[in-house]
Amino acid sequence: MRTLFNCKECVDLLMDYLEGNLDPEIQKKLDQHFAACPPCVKFLDSYRACSEMAQQLKDQQVRIPLELENRLKAFLKEEIKKV
Ligand SMILES: [Zn+2]
Repeated sequence: MRTLFNCKECVDLLMDYLEGNLDPEIQKKLDQHFAACPPCVKFLDSYRACSEMAQQLKDQQVRIPLELENRLKAFLKEEIKKV
């Protein structure tokens, strides 16, 4: 039986792993490593969370916080009254 990947190799392959670009055989070996290596799983999770967050930020227009928006509306209302 071939030895499993070490952590360094896993990290190198992580992006392909998450995108499903790996050979099924290699993917399986990575799964085996992750099953036995909690630090790598932790890294995997945070990496995944990061890329998801980046994805969301890319898709989403930056939004004004609701509180600020309300204050802005109230401010504008006051300004309109003055005119
Ligand atoms: Zn590891």
